[in-house]
This record gives sequence, structure tokens and C-alpha cells, in this order.
Amino acid sequence: MNSNDPLIIDDGDRYSRMRLIAWWDQEKIRNAKVLVVGLGALGNEVTKNLVLMGIGDIYAIDLDCVEDSNLTRSVLFRESDNGKSKVDAAARALYDMNQDSRVHPVHGNVMTDIGLGLVRDVDVVIGCLDNREARLWVNRMCWKVGTPWVDGGIQEINGVAKVFVPPDGSCYECAMTENDYRLINLRYSCPLLKREDILEGKVPTAPTISSIIAGLQTQEALKLIHGMEVESGGAMVFNGVANRFYKTKYQHRSDCLSHDVYPQPRGSGLSVEDELSRLFSVAQKELSGHEVVLKLDRDLVTEFFCPKCEVAEPIHQPTQTVDAGLLVCPECNHQRTPKMTHHIESDSPLLQRMIGDCGIARYDIVRFCTEELEVCLELDADRVWNHPYKPSS
Ligand SMILES: [Zn+2]
Ligand SMILES: [Zn+2]
Repeated sequence: MNSNDPLIIDDGDRYSRMRLIAWWDQEKIRNAKVLVVGLGALGNEVTKNLVLMGIGDIYAIDLDCVEDSNLTRSVLFRESDNGKSKVDAAARALYDMNQDSRVHPVHGNVMTDIGLGLVRDVDVVIGCLDNREARLWVNRMCWKVGTPWVDGGIQEINGVAKVFVPPDGSCYECAMTENDYRLINLRYSCPLLKREDILEGKVPTAPTISSIIAGLQTQEALKLIHGMEVESGGAMVFNGVANRFYKTKYQHRSDCLSHDVYPQPRGSGLSVEDELSRLFSVAQKELSGHEVVLKLDRDLVTEFFCPKCEVAEPIHQPTQTVDAGLLVCPECNHQRTPKMTHHIESDSPLLQRMIGDCGIARYDIVRFCTEELEVCLELDADRVWNHPYKPSS
């Protein structure tokens, strides 16, 4: 039976009712790849919607584990999931829902554990986040590699969804206010604050508004996947108290720091487990033997120095993952000073270390520069770094 013939409904085809929508293309949906950042109330609803529709590949990242207070807003979690990672619990529930979708759980931090290669591969990123810093990070990643993203935010019974399509139009950062920067800069002026200190407080929300906003986010993603017109660079605001729905458009800021677009990356044949010197060799070859500098996306802490003991402890971690507790000297309890770098030159001792030790994520895209030239290299040997969920037995 031809299931594309609108006059014939094949009840054996689970997608038959959706195929009746004039523009619906189940093939496009089956081939689509979506990255969902955050598996709280919004992320639960978004991934549920994506899997019901049969989206081919869904990458879901979250750092947290399931707590009982999540159960009132999370369709995918059960009491028995308490203490399990959110992504693993969600992946299992999504697997039961529809095995046409491959769900790739990533238990980690979007700022350090997602490489630009993945962001470039997916058709759309859906942000289900609760803090500005992570949103800004997602925004900058999406701009660098030209992937559209759909942001969502909820509070009590109100919510907002925003679509951003690089490289044109306004982005998330274009709309950021002085106060947004102030809240984020709290972190950058003291870069080693503990993660818990900078996350905005727990926002009270009802499960109903997460369904509404996640529904909107998923529909906008669906339009993007179909190549349909979307209104980007603005917000769709839903006031659930008055049942008012309105749209705003953001002003494009030409001095916005997010509008950095990376040139088309070249394959390096390397992975994060290879030595950094090999990546430098590839870059040097690409830039006809010129002296190159590696520009890091994530500031790297290279050592802690205790002025009292006059001892330096080498460490290689992006600032985002460094705990304030590590600043305390284990010998004398004195505050130690971190040494940070945001670029690596070709004579650095770091070249003898693994690429992954230098704050570079798996399947990342990195930028090398000379005085005038630049080249972006992809860690393409990491392409298949994450497998879809399958039940263990
Ligand atoms: Zn912008
Ligand atoms: Zn000390």
C-alpha cells in the first residue's frame, strides 16, 4: 500500500495520521538529527515529542541525576530512576516509546563535553536550559558552525520560545541586557566559582507550561527540518495567566560577540586521544608551514601555584570544570593562584599531551591561526563516539 497516497490510510503504519498533513515528510523526519541540551521539564517533553514523531537521531545531554522532585514534571522518569543519570533514564523510556528513533545519551556538561563537530552535524539544537551561561555557550557554538537553535524558558505558568538561525538575523546574545552580562560576568570575573554558585536559582514551574513551550519548540524544530519559513531572531511569549500570546523581534547588534563564524573545517584524521603535536603538524601543513597558534574555545587552567609553599601543581582542565575547592593548597590550606591560557603556541610543553587534556572536546572543531591565515580542523576520528541506547540484557 502506498502510504503517501492521502486517500489511503494504512493503519499498520504508525505515522499514517501525520502523513495526512500536506507538507509532512516522514523521510525528512527519519533522517533528521537533533541535539537536545538539558533533560529537565522541557527536555523531557521535547524528547518525548521528537521520539513520537520518529526523528532518526536524538542526542540528549544533561549533567544531573533524577531526584524525586523531578517526577511531577518529567514524563520519562519513574520513582525507580531516583539517583540514575537523567539521560540514561530518559533514553530507556524513549526506547520503549519508539525504536525508530535512536537516542544517544550524553551524561555531561554541554560546555565541555559536546564538540562542535556534533553541533555541525545536527539539523537543529533545542535548548532546554535553566541558566544564561549555558544558553550563551549554545548560541556561540551554533553560530560558529551555522546550526539553527530553538531556546525555551519557563516560569510558573508562563513561558517563552525563541528561534535563532545563523548566520543572519539576531541571536540570543543580541538580546542580552546589562543585567544578563552582570550575572554571567560574576562567573568570568571569578572564573573558578563552583558551578552550583552560578546556576540561577531553582525556578518554580508547572508541568502544563513545560508541555506548551516544549510543544512550541518542537514544532519550530519540525519546521526547520522541513525547510519551512520560521520567524527567527525573536521571542514567542506565552502569558499563561492572561492567556496572551505575542511575538517580539530582537534588534541585531553588529558588535555582538556571538557572530563569529568558523570557516569550513577540514578533517584532521585525529581524535582527542592523539597527541596535540600531531594536530599542530596537520595545521602547519594546511597553512603552508607557517608558525601556528591554537585558539582555545575554553580557557585552560594549566597549573595551581601556592605562593606560600612556592609549589606549582600542574593541572589540565577547562575552567568550566574546575571546582573552587581545588584552589585550596593541600599542604598549607592557603589560596592558590590558577594559571590560565586561552591559546597554545607551537613551542608549548602542552604539545606532548593528549588533545583531550587541553580543554578540547571529543569530535570538536579547533581553530589555528597565523598572522593572516586561519584554518579549522575537525577531530573527525571521533565522529562515532557515542552509541544509541540499547537495553543491556
Ligand atoms: Zn548576536
Ligand atoms: Zn601551600
